Amino acid sequence: MEMYEAVVVGAGPAGCMLAQTAGKRCNILLVESRDLHVPVEEGREKSCGGLLNPTAQETLAKLGLALPKEVLESPQVFAIRAIDYDTNQERYYPKHYININRGAFDRWMLSEALISPRVELCDRTTVVGYTPYTDYVEVTLRGADGVTRQIKTRYLVGADGAASLVRRRLEQKYCGPDEPRFPIRRYVSLQQWFPMEEELPYYVALFDQRVTDYYSWMIPKGGQVILGAAIPEGKNVRGRFQYLKHRVRATGFSLGTPEREQGAILLRPYGPGSVYLGKGRVFLAGEAAGLISASSEEGISYALSSGTALGEALLRRGTPEETEDLYRKRVMKLRWGLAIKSMKSIIMYDPKLRGAVFRSGLLSMNVK
Ligand SMILES: Cc1cc2nc3c(=O)[nH]c(=O)nc-3n(C[C@H](O)[C@H](O)[C@H](O)COP(=O)(O)OP(=O)(O)OC[C@H]3O[C@@H](n4cnc5c(N)ncnc54)[C@H](O)[C@@H]3O)c2cc1C
Repeated sequence: MEMYEAVVVGAGPAGCMLAQTAGKRCNILLVESRDLHVPVEEGREKSCGGLLNPTAQETLAKLGLALPKEVLESPQVFAIRAIDYDTNQERYYPKHYININRGAFDRWMLSEALISPRVELCDRTTVVGYTPYTDYVEVTLRGADGVTRQIKTRYLVGADGAASLVRRRLEQKYCGPDEPRFPIRRYVSLQQWFPMEEELPYYVALFDQRVTDYYSWMIPKGGQVILGAAIPEGKNVRGRFQYLKHRVRATGFSLGTPEREQGAILLRPYGPGSVYLGKGRVFLAGEAAGLISASSEEGISYALSSGTALGEALLRRGTPEETEDLYRKRVMKLRWGLAIKSMKSIIMYDPKLRGAVFRSGLLSMNVK
């Protein structure tokens, strides 16, 4: 059986940055269940709003990476129109996101990872289980043909996103009744893509407790408009989304017939206590670790930073304890950031407090 330094589950931003960093000197197998050979235009990318916030932009800058133009999506807009149905108010806020095509972004990240000489990619392959031993982890892979095989690795990394199998199995194994758990909320996020019938020169954030205790959004993208919502799992997601569409149309937005739909699980941390970085020879990075903003659903910057941090820790080739210690230190700043976002979210998602902020006009701007 071949032995890798690390098997990385998931070729999203966390997995790609990890492979790119550690793959300079360590043998890395990057496993991805999607078919990465189908053209991006077929639209099988991860469900995402595809907005790069200033922190993600800064992270890319620190990594010495510049976005190629194929990743950009039009239009690039610079304001958010926030509509609060709970208190019947609306405001505009300046916002400096970069609007991207998420499929193209992921492919570009992958091409950056594959520049590192020791990265091997295995797509159309799913990690279906693993067993940690003292000196290695045995990982079970299932190929597109349904055939399973085992491989050995010194470390296993779950960069497998919100529905992480690696995290689930770790929690089942190690979080017994006497061990601390890492509670995290799960949402179902539904997005529908509509033909653009009128110009939308801003992003829209929608707050309505009848839809969700989180938020909904509209994003203009490449001649279409995405309407999306993150709704608590198990809370009549479809019915609430229908209600949202009705609300949005009643506000005057013209939405025709949706051309496509995407669904995904989205995690919402309570705070730094929701972050689980792994145990022993099994680590977690990106959203699988619970690293995603609790106030805005933005997770790309956390994925890039945590993937890089774990990649750097693995490069040292230390013991599992040394690797974990180094990784923990490097993500400390991310945890602080998450704590701040969690505090912000208390204000943003309490209708009374949010209503008071809207009334004050704090940080808002006038738009013609
Ligand atoms: C609707 C929606 C909108 C969002 N909008 C934004 C936004 O505008 N800006 C932003 O910054 N963030 C946004 N996010 C969050 C962001 O998409 C994620 O936080 C980010 O993609 C996390 O990156 P990751 O690398 O950790 O995981 P992912 O990007 O989820 O990648 C995980 C990869 O692992 C693969 N995988 C999973 N399980 C297995 C397995 N068992 N075997 C093999 N492969 C596997 C998956 O196919 C996937 O490619 C949004 C999320 C959602 C759901």
